[in-house]
Amino acid sequence: MPIALRTLDDGAWISVNDSRQVSVSDVWTLSRGVFCDCKPAYVLLEAFLDVRINGSIVVAEAVGQCLECGTRDSIARLPVGKIVDGEFEPYNPEAVQSVLEPES
Ligand SMILES: [Zn+2]
Repeated sequence: MPIALRTLDDGAWISVNDSRQVSVSDVWTLSRGVFCDCKPAYVLLEAFLDVRINGSIVVAEAVGQCLECGTRDSIARLPVGKIVDGEFEPYNPEAVQSVLEPES
């Protein structure tokens, strides 16, 4: 069964199969200086711009701001969860995440 992914409420939520699953108000911990020079960077998301699936991983495009240095930028590929047996399992925003490398 295909997974229905979309953003709702001007990017405030990611909806999976018509159910609001991921809120934009979380702080995500991003590792390795991909977003800014902070390691790790604590990034408060402002909006989800897009969402799509990459294999079994749900990947969002988002805009956020680093709470420490103030860098505000877009995040091209933020993994927010995965699909297991047709069900969405969200990742814990507080766990250190690696932003996926851009597609070359
Ligand atoms: Zn920073």
